[in-house]
Amino acid sequence: MNWISNYVRPKINSLFSRREVPENLWTKCPECGTMLFHRELADNLNVCTSCDHHMAISPRDRFVRLFDGGIFTEVAVPDPLPDPLGFRDQKKYPERLKAAQKATGEKEAMLVAEGEIGRTPIVAACQDFSFMAGSMGMYVGNAIIAAATRAVELKRPLVLFSAAGGARMQEGILSLMQMPRTTVAVQMLKEARLPYVVVLTHPTTGGVTASYAMLGDVQIAEPNALICFAGPRVIEQTIRETLPEGFQRAEYLLDHGMLDRVTHRKKLREDLIIVLRMLMHLPPPVAADLPAPKPVYVEPAPVDAAATPEAAPAETPKQA
Ligand SMILES: [Zn+2]
Repeated sequence: MNWISNYVRPKINSLFSRREVPENLWTKCPECGTMLFHRELADNLNVCTSCDHHMAISPRDRFVRLFDGGIFTEVAVPDPLPDPLGFRDQKKYPERLKAAQKATGEKEAMLVAEGEIGRTPIVAACQDFSFMAGSMGMYVGNAIIAAATRAVELKRPLVLFSAAGGARMQEGILSLMQMPRTTVAVQMLKEARLPYVVVLTHPTTGGVTASYAMLGDVQIAEPNALICFAGPRVIEQTIRETLPEGFQRAEYLLDHGMLDRVTHRKKLREDLIIVLRMLMHLPPPVAADLPAPKPVYVEPAPVDAAATPEAAPAETPKQA
C-alpha cells in the first residue's frame, strides 16, 4: 500500500498532469535584442525592460490594464459579408482569416468595449496588429461605426488605439471604402460634441493614418511609434535619398506639429483620465481611494441579570 501511494501514484500523476508550458517563454526585443521572460514582459505592459521599446499588446490585455478593475463590456459589432470578392492569393482569404482567428483567439482585428477609467465612463476601440497586421477591412469599419454609435448613445467620449499595416488587400476597394465610412463615424461624434481621442501605437500606417487615426481631438502616441502613410523604405526608394534619423517616428512627428503628446504606456491611463475629464467638464480625477472604513467592533456590555431590571425603570421618563 505504501509503495503504491508513495511511489506509483505520484509517478502516474506526474505523467498525466504535466502542466502545459507555453512555447515561447522568452521574447526577443526587436529593438535591442534582449531576451525577456514572458511574465516579466507582461507585468511591464509589453514594454522592453532594458530599452523601453513598446511592443504590440493585444486589445484584450490593453483593456484589462486600462479599465477600472479590469472590468469592461464588449460592444457587439455587426458581421460583414464574408469574402465578398472570393479573393485568393497563395491561400484563400477565409483560410487566412481562420488562421488569424486561431492564432489570436479573437474574431477580427478590432475590439470595442465600454467601461470606466478613473470613474470616467468611456467607449474604447483597439486595433489588433497581430490579427492580419491589424488591417482595416469591413469588420474594422463596422467596429468603428459601432463604437461611435455607442458613444453617442451613451454620451461618452471615444478612445481609439490604432495599430495597422494599412487597408486589407483581400477586400480590395471595399477596404478602401472604410476610410470615408469611418470618417463619417468620427463626424457623428463631433456633431454630438463628444471628444474623440486617438492613441497611435507602433505601427500605424497606410489607409488607417489617412482616415480615423488622424482625426482625433487629441492625438497621443506611444514612444517611438512609426506613424506614416507610406513607410520610410518606400519613400527612400522613391526619392533616392537617405531620410533623417527618427523620421516618421512619434517624437519626430511631435516636433513637427502632427501630434499633441507622446506618452509612455505606463502613464497613458493617467493621461487619458485627465484629458477626458477635462474635455467632458468633469471634476478632477480622484487621486486615490481611501480604504473603506473598518467596521468598529464594540464589545457588548456584560449582561447582568440583576442589574437590567433596575436600570430599566431609571431610563423611563418620570411623569408628573
Ligand atoms: Zn529592448
